[in-house]
Amino acid sequence: MIVVLKPGVDQEKKERLIQWLEHQGLKVHVSDGELHTVLGLVGDPSHLDLDLVGSLEIVDKVSRVTEPFKCCNRHFHPEDTVVSAGGVPVGGGHFAMIAGPCSVETEEQIVTVAKAVKAAGADLLRGGAFKPRTSPYDFSGLKATGLELLRIARAETGLPIVTELMDVRDLELFADVDVIQVGARNMQNFDLLRELGRSDKPVLLKRGLASTLRELLMSAEYIMSGGNEQVILCERGIRTYSDYTRNTLDLSAVPMLHELSHLPVIVDPSHATGMARLVPPMAMAAAAAGADGLMVEVHNDPLRALCDGAQSLRPEEYAELARKVREIRKVVTA
Ligand code: PEP
Ligand code: MN
Repeated sequence: MIVVLKPGVDQEKKERLIQWLEHQGLKVHVSDGELHTVLGLVGDPSHLDLDLVGSLEIVDKVSRVTEPFKCCNRHFHPEDTVVSAGGVPVGGGHFAMIAGPCSVETEEQIVTVAKAVKAAGADLLRGGAFKPRTSPYDFSGLKATGLELLRIARAETGLPIVTELMDVRDLELFADVDVIQVGARNMQNFDLLRELGRSDKPVLLKRGLASTLRELLMSAEYIMSGGNEQVILCERGIRTYSDYTRNTLDLSAVPMLHELSHLPVIVDPSHATGMARLVPPMAMAAAAAGADGLMVEVHNDPLRALCDGAQSLRPEEYAELARKVREIRKVVTA
């Protein structure tokens, strides 16, 4: 349910209405736009007298939100949300370039890549310290040591860090991480999502391998309903019957998610394709589709990478891509 207030409403009357709605057992999300204030009501509004609310002098209209996701719904919050990712704005016209290796391997590797992607214009550094791997015998990250190396790379470059949390029990270790990534395999780990809802850290939520957009938004809802509104959605490819790529990049998800939600939407063309040579064209297509950012895997020595070398760009390839993406952004925002 949303209650749209008339432009320029009296603050006191607005506060009184909010208090009254809260008194009815509803949680009220206030979204102050340029023209209108929208009150998003979460909870069961079935006992509410809609005619009464609609008849109030300060109310423009009352309507039901039929979708099951509320907090992340565009109706609740008509303006784009801008997430502050370690001080870097993402969304609402702010485009974020996130780059770095799949996994943090050594200090030399992560610092070299961090410096290279920064020189290419990246805004944030990615790197996995806790890696979800299909096989339990594969390299699964340096864990706490990996986080330590990311901190060193951040100190050397000033780039905020994005890294994946797989298990709520490790949350304490992530206290000074700038953006916590929830990987595709954990998109429906509801305990993890609820815990992140209680934190104030920005969360980069990746779409599950076989998840619908509604499921992705319901996962964002888990985080947001706990009070954490700093969520970035990430399209990273889904399982289809395509036989030559790792996944299928669902680019239509970008404009569709923008329609459905006010949250920023970024694209990861690396996991979507699985092949370095396909990353630049799909990254450019994502920028053209209106994505709010790109997360690209970059490695200084892809042939020796411990994880996902085949899809990792070399620093010079990333620099070239970043330059082209900046050109495409000019057209998109023109
Ligand atoms: C990653 O970004 O490191 C990753 C594992 O991606 P995904 O969860 O999308 O597979
Ligand atoms: Mn990877």
